[in-house]
Amino acid sequence: MAHDPSLSTAAAALHALDESELRELEEHAADCAECSTELVEFRETAARLGAALSVEPPAGMRDAVLATIGSVRQLPPEPLPQETTAPELPAVQELAAQPISLDSRRRTTRRNWTLAVAAVVALLTVVGAMFFIGRSTEQADPLRDCLATASDERTMPASPSSVGTVTTTDSASCGAALVQISGVPAAPADHTYQMWVITGDQTRSVATMDPDDTGTMPDVVTAVHVGDTAVGVTVEPAGGSPVPTSEPVIVVPLV
Ligand SMILES: [Zn+2]
Repeated sequence: MAHDPSLSTAAAALHALDESELRELEEHAADCAECSTELVEFRETAARLGAALSVEPPAGMRDAVLATIGSVRQLPPEPLPQETTAPELPAVQELAAQPISLDSRRRTTRRNWTLAVAAVVALLTVVGAMFFIGRSTEQADPLRDCLATASDERTMPASPSSVGTVTTTDSASCGAALVQISGVPAAPADHTYQMWVITGDQTRSVATMDPDDTGTMPDVVTAVHVGDTAVGVTVEPAGGSPVPTSEPVIVVPLV
């Protein structure tokens, strides 16, 4: 059987052929090494793209993709006459008189390719969006980024009675503070350290945290605002508390 280049292996791999078109291609590929190799390769690629979607696609995505495919133009329009000022009717009549020269096979193949390309574009868009969302939730930390380049950073000493070594830098332009704590003992059993921003007699929980084996806490970046009076750390029952239940072991005045 002769190789028929109008049969679309890419469209088949993306399930864009109807049953009879798929059967025709598969019958042809059974005797055509070129097409059977292409079909295997396209199907492997499509499977890899599918496997890249490790996240459950959002509800409605399938409908949105199908709607997009439905709106893709199947064939390009006939080229417009160059002279847009020419109002003569004969030109239109000539166009209308031209026979449609594309045979049905070519039209079908063209449509299949268009569908295949639309499906790949839709899939890559979804993969790209998920990659972007993954990156932004993992890495975006505008306060930390701002502190790294701020020119108005201040280093605020901890009160002398504080445990460990505490380095606090804040920046009014960023509205943020970076607190680094080391040299602290492990919290008692079933307890944790909890950091607060203190504003007058109000407290706002920032984070619960525990030191590693060397007594070093994870760095904490917190929003601070004009009027905040201190950053404090207390020892609280495991899981943290809504409000501090003990005297702070670390106090860093911010004013
Ligand atoms: Zn072939």
